[in-house]
Amino acid sequence: MLDWLIEGARLADRDGLWDVGVAGGRIALVRPSCGRETAAGRRVFAAGRLLLPGLVDAHVHTRDPGYPWKEDFGTASRAAAAGGVTTILAMPNTNPPMTGAAAIQMARREAEKKSVVSSFLVGGACASRPQAIRGMKAAGAVALDVYDDLFGAGTETWLSMFLEAKKEGLPLCFYLMDGAMERFCRERQRARGKAPWEVIAGATDAETEAASIARIFPLAAYLQAPAVIRMVSTKKAVEMIRCMKRLYPDAPVCAEACLSYLFLTREDFRRQGAAAHVHPPLRGEEDVRALWEGLFDGTLDYIASDHAPHAQEEKERPKLEDCASGIAGLEVMLPLLLDAAKRGEFGLSDLIRLCCEAPARIYGLSGKGAIGEGMDADLVLADWNGERTVPARGRFTRGAATPYAGRRLTGWPVFTMCRGRLVFGDGTPDGVEAAEAGLPPESGGKEEEGWKS
Ligand SMILES: [Zn+2]
Repeated sequence: MLDWLIEGARLADRDGLWDVGVAGGRIALVRPSCGRETAAGRRVFAAGRLLLPGLVDAHVHTRDPGYPWKEDFGTASRAAAAGGVTTILAMPNTNPPMTGAAAIQMARREAEKKSVVSSFLVGGACASRPQAIRGMKAAGAVALDVYDDLFGAGTETWLSMFLEAKKEGLPLCFYLMDGAMERFCRERQRARGKAPWEVIAGATDAETEAASIARIFPLAAYLQAPAVIRMVSTKKAVEMIRCMKRLYPDAPVCAEACLSYLFLTREDFRRQGAAAHVHPPLRGEEDVRALWEGLFDGTLDYIASDHAPHAQEEKERPKLEDCASGIAGLEVMLPLLLDAAKRGEFGLSDLIRLCCEAPARIYGLSGKGAIGEGMDADLVLADWNGERTVPARGRFTRGAATPYAGRRLTGWPVFTMCRGRLVFGDGTPDGVEAAEAGLPPESGGKEEEGWKS
């Protein structure tokens, strides 16, 4: 017998209405909705709402262990579930940092205790100790982030980092932030008498990103060592990656776009200050357009949240340059994306490709990222009719005020399931009652026009 039967849902990549059955934490049945009686422990009447695979977010700062006032696996994973995300990759800048096998194991124990969604870990690879990469995969890492500034290091260091990561069988993820260049740019802005927000906004420039990309591709191609370019934020970087992918078609390099650079601009930073302070800084309209184009033509490979929560007092220091950088984006991830899809900015099939399939494939997460028999029952049912205003603070994250506050968005999750377990339901903290009772058809949506797949 099925544990769950979700009836009459719309799927992103198929016409008509569908039933999806869940048993033993996996998807056991996907069939056109026919009203046929099938035994199930619990039934949900989807009433034409959209059923998606839970999003796979490859860039989440859970702050655990070490920074419980900012976030932990419990709060981050509940925020994820509320934002339609059922798989997260936790970033290594914790305390202790995940720069060795023992620290990764420690974080894994915290995740197992507290996380309500599937949590995977990203190890931190240090330029000074490339050999510390060994054993990280066995400890639970699915990728490696270059943890310190590799752009100040010589080619020998680059070679040994790539080779150790390849030997370990993990992709090496790069940030395009060259510390020396950043300091230079910041000083130059100051010397020109720029306002504090402009000094920060000009502290990493497109040239830094472009120069870094030029260093990553040839080595990754030559060594056939998988790499990921994180947080692409400028038009020049997109064009550089496009050009490099052409020059090195066999380079195993993927590129990440993050929510902040797709849905916010420098103008938001100017108006909102610390709430929209993120690193690298927000860019211009032209950059935002270039990122979307890059996502459509395959230059960029996937979308992540870069959920980076901080306590309110860390975001509200007197001087802008002393305020913590980072935006808590998990709880609005699916609404931001579905709202953009509804406005016709991109299709539902793009959303599935960029937020589910591609990150699951790139980071080797089997069973994730698609609705199909035998896959993990990671599902999110979203309401595409009603609009809701983004509140100033998230319901679950400990992160400070969001720069998305006040936006009217559609596409909020009604319930989220991870491996067959209900982890979010609208209206109640864990939503179990709401979803177990089934969702009454009259409160659900009629099928709507205007959705592009
Ligand atoms: Zn980050």
